[in-house]
Amino acid sequence: MTDCLFCKMVTGEITPDTVYEDEDVLAFRDINPQAPTHVLVVPKQHVATLNDLDKSNIHLVGKMMLAATAIAEQEGFAEQGYRTVMNCNADGGQTVFHIHLHLLGGRIMHWPPG
Ligand code: AMP
Ligand code: ZN
Repeated sequence: MTDCLFCKMVTGEITPDTVYEDEDVLAFRDINPQAPTHVLVVPKQHVATLNDLDKSNIHLVGKMMLAATAIAEQEGFAEQGYRTVMNCNADGGQTVFHIHLHLLGGRIMHWPPG
């Protein structure tokens, strides 16, 4: 997807502040952090929204979650706790249409979310 911001990060056209990378996922710091640590975990394969997941690509979500738990350990807040969020479409607050897992940590999270 040539016009996708997160695909451009995957290809290196835009250089993110990378914290983790493997063959399937890339993780980088959010440009507008909502917590002391706010990382986005994205699949290297373009999938626009959660609604576009199917049997052929669902394994990517497991890889994203495993990356998030590794980053939480790396950042030092795995035991204290953290939050993971995936927003879908307008009502969910999705603004970049390449699926991503928000990993938020380093402060106490509140519920319900806004
Ligand atoms: P969402 O609103 O769930 O689609 O999340 C998109 C996230 O991407 C937001 O938290 C933005 O702050 C973040 N974002 C947008 N542009 C960039 C960028 N160039 N580098 C890092 N994060 C970005
Ligand atoms: Zn993309």
